[in-house]
Amino acid sequence: MEQPWAAGSADAASARLPLVLTALWAAAVSLELAYVLVLGPGPPPLGPLARALQLALAAFQLLNLLGNVGLFLRSDPSIRGVMLAGRGLGQGWAYCYQCQSQVPPRSGHCSACRICVLRRDHHCRLLGRCVGFRNYRPFLCLLLHAAGVLLHVSVLLGPALSALLRAHTPLHTAALLLLPWLMLLTGRVSLAQFALAFVTDTCVAGALLCGAGLLFHGMLLLRGQTTWEWARGQHSYDLGPCHNLRAALGPRWILVWLWPFLASPLPGDGVTFQTTADVGLMAS
Ligand SMILES: [Zn+2]
Ligand SMILES: [Zn+2]
Repeated sequence: MEQPWAAGSADAASARLPLVLTALWAAAVSLELAYVLVLGPGPPPLGPLARALQLALAAFQLLNLLGNVGLFLRSDPSIRGVMLAGRGLGQGWAYCYQCQSQVPPRSGHCSACRICVLRRDHHCRLLGRCVGFRNYRPFLCLLLHAAGVLLHVSVLLGPALSALLRAHTPLHTAALLLLPWLMLLTGRVSLAQFALAFVTDTCVAGALLCGAGLLFHGMLLLRGQTTWEWARGQHSYDLGPCHNLRAALGPRWILVWLWPFLASPLPGDGVTFQTTADVGLMAS
């Protein structure tokens, strides 16, 4: 029988496109930062101790960011390889016609990944992969450290931006930051000025986006909800903030934000979940 999730080569290429675009953008930001730091105005002036602390912070943020990206992309959040046959008898189980399988509660079929995903939250368009039970931790840590790295890059570009402000009128600088493509196409700015404005804009917008995502998912984390359940007002799996944090991030949920490879095994299997009704029955 053909495996329904076995995507063809064209599908595989289109699935990788968002990741390739994200990687290209990250490379453009890194190149622009290197250009500004080496050939341009350089980083903000700091003393030796502050500079050492800043370098340590940059190394910590980059290791966390890259480690979590690697873990997120290596993990398979789907039902692939999970023994489901014969287990679909409880409440909340359903049959997925695309996967031709019984699927557990909280799972959902993703048309982009072409498979059901355990405790499916959403499909991440920037990385081209679903967020589910097995990769929720690297996804959340990724949001935190991506916001941190982007803010850090914005600060490092500060002297170059203030030099730009001094060289032009505030109106010209504002137009460059708000409409960099238009300013480039109409020949009002050089390519170097455009690159600085474009990278600054995308870093600030990216940091805001990651910050907003982190706040939203922080709320879901405390409530024990997926995005899908939040949209439908379902609270069946909310067993209190401490239990919810342990269920999503493991017993060392306080420390997982500091190091991507810190062991914190998830207590569940992504197939069965305790509900508020189960807890109520146990208490009565
Ligand atoms: Zn499915
Ligand atoms: Zn997906």
